[in-house]
Amino acid sequence: MLKKYQQQTLAIQLLNLHAKVKIVHQETGIPIKLLRQTYRQLHGQSPSRGSIKFSTRGLTGNHRKYKDVTIFAVCFQVASTKSTEGQIQTLISAFNAYKKSYPSGQLKFSDTWVVAQDIKDKKIHLSKCPQCRSWVLLNAREDLSERCSVCRIHL
Ligand SMILES: [Zn+2]
Repeated sequence: MLKKYQQQTLAIQLLNLHAKVKIVHQETGIPIKLLRQTYRQLHGQSPSRGSIKFSTRGLTGNHRKYKDVTIFAVCFQVASTKSTEGQIQTLISAFNAYKKSYPSGQLKFSDTWVVAQDIKDKKIHLSKCPQCRSWVLLNAREDLSERCSVCRIHL
């Protein structure tokens, strides 16, 4: 019974962050139909039916977006080193830290979920520019041009 309660609490936490129903289903095992109903109760409208982005590369289409994703990746790394909680709680902490430290950031919770998966699977990783020491997120661009977004050197 406790497990069920924890899953429901997590589902409501995620739905409050406007996480996509498919993601909430994957994280909690709660049926999609029930999640859609709960989303409507919480937000007064149906959840959007848009699909989940396939990978981080689909989120870094321009310089501003790449910067957004890099800032989130830094928040996620900080949250991961501090946290002993499960992946999803770490992601929620990282997302809240991202929203707080970068209010103009435009990533949605479901976007950051995709980025966190790619970090966990080691498809993308954070590094520091050897010249100016800014954070760079490697392997995250569609065209794979690895450039520092601050001093512009090629990495
Ligand atoms: Zn640099």
